[in-house]
Amino acid sequence: MTREFVASRWTRGNFLFPTRIRITDQGVVRHKRSWFSKSEENVHARNIANVNVRTGLIWSDIRIETSGGSDPLDSHGHSKGDAREIQRLIQALQASVGGAAPPLDSGDTRACPFCAETIKKAAKICRYCSRELA
Ligand SMILES: [Zn+2]
Repeated sequence: MTREFVASRWTRGNFLFPTRIRITDQGVVRHKRSWFSKSEENVHARNIANVNVRTGLIWSDIRIETSGGSDPLDSHGHSKGDAREIQRLIQALQASVGGAAPPLDSGDTRACPFCAETIKKAAKICRYCSRELA
């Protein structure tokens, strides 16, 4: 599933090259280009901390806050309907990759009970979070 939302051209900073927000199974990608550059920012669903929608009279601004210390992704000038849909999709995505779904135990790996990363079953210490495993 990939959905793409394009900011309105009639809003600040979007006239020539509107920002595009793409929501995939893995996370969110923001495409923004200008005369001289093209930037693509990627936030994995696991690193999304929060989605805020601020609705003005006509347009909505979206801010996707990330965990892990990177800058939030901002996008201005989406329709209210799009903004709500973006928020809904991202929240569904968070639920599907986040702590809600129990990680799979399979073969000789298992999920660390502390950080949920996949580690070897025989591990005594998690290589991701360095905690001791029972
Ligand atoms: Zn761990």
